Amino acid sequence: MLTTYKIELNPTCNHAWLFDCYAGASRWAYNLFLDINKQRYQDGYWYMDAYEFSKWFNNEYLKENPDDTWIKKYYAKSTKQAFIDADRAMKRFFKNKHGYPKFRSFKRGQGSYYFCSNGKKQPIEFQRHRIKLPKIGWVRFKEFGYIPRDAVIKEGRVKQKANRYYVTCIVEVQDTKHPELNGNPVGIDLGIKEFAILSDKAIYPNKNKSNRVKRIRKHLKRIERKESRQYLAFKARNQKEGKSATDLNLAKTQLRMQRLYQHLHNIQSDYQNKIIANVVRTKPQYVSIEDLNVKGMMKNRHLAKAVAQEGFYNFRVKLITKCQQLGIPVHLVNRFEPTSKTCHHCGLKKADLSLDDRVYKCPNCHYVEDRDINAALNIRDTKNFELAY
Ligand SMILES: [Zn+2]
Repeated sequence: MLTTYKIELNPTCNHAWLFDCYAGASRWAYNLFLDINKQRYQDGYWYMDAYEFSKWFNNEYLKENPDDTWIKKYYAKSTKQAFIDADRAMKRFFKNKHGYPKFRSFKRGQGSYYFCSNGKKQPIEFQRHRIKLPKIGWVRFKEFGYIPRDAVIKEGRVKQKANRYYVTCIVEVQDTKHPELNGNPVGIDLGIKEFAILSDKAIYPNKNKSNRVKRIRKHLKRIERKESRQYLAFKARNQKEGKSATDLNLAKTQLRMQRLYQHLHNIQSDYQNKIIANVVRTKPQYVSIEDLNVKGMMKNRHLAKAVAQEGFYNFRVKLITKCQQLGIPVHLVNRFEPTSKTCHHCGLKKADLSLDDRVYKCPNCHYVEDRDINAALNIRDTKNFELAY
């Protein structure tokens, strides 16, 4: 089985510089592929796939454009992979027929480069505290002993995000035995007031309402205002003098902004990982969640911001992956199933349930339960579901 490990690197200045160069080179290659194939597409030539393009690039393009031979100094495998990535993006475009692939820009933080081992017999060397990257050498990790000792690293990528460098390695690990599932099934109700409510009455509050997150968002707002002011000033200066100016203070502010976004993202993903760990720890027979229509919810402008900040989709992806690793079935409940309106005890559908009723009172059997726990129980027990994998 293949799994991915992502670890932060602790590069020296020289390493960081090299990473940036390599990422820049592969971005350039990606954009070149898109550019040339776009031209050919418009001129009515046939499409060149990654293999053909790579051959043409090395044999013809570089001879005709000697100015671009600098690319030879960089890592050839990473360049080739950039062509393959661009090829995939193009094929996706041909298949779905919407949205020509976008050119990559360092402004959007799309810096990464690919590395791989030299053949099967020489996997990427690594130790508890460092990894030997091709052409660069030993680079230290920030977290020690995370990759298991017997793992075999064949390929990976180095990525930059908010001024930090990460390595993701694809590692071959032995299949682990699935644990025996003998816990009670769990139904999860996701919502805006509380992030998640489980059928076993565990309640996970919405992190976006905590003081910590609110404080960071407030700070972020201020920095964003500053950035916009600096950007406008920078643009005005550029136009006035008629030449390109640089603004290091603007760059500093942008970095601060990126770091705050990263901080918020880290808080959220940590929280979600902990919820998932708690769910999975009981070894439930199955886990059941609502198949939320996130796209539809985003169209409602009253809900959009709250929904976007919660990251329901990420949660769902993470939950399904984790359950798949452990062999726990995941039920996706049909989104039109009336889970909050139905009485869990007798099955009566209460049509006039308003959003303000926080407690569910059944007029038929006098069953009283918290609204969301009632919904979570219904999500757990409904027969109207699809398997997630
Ligand atoms: Zn009832």
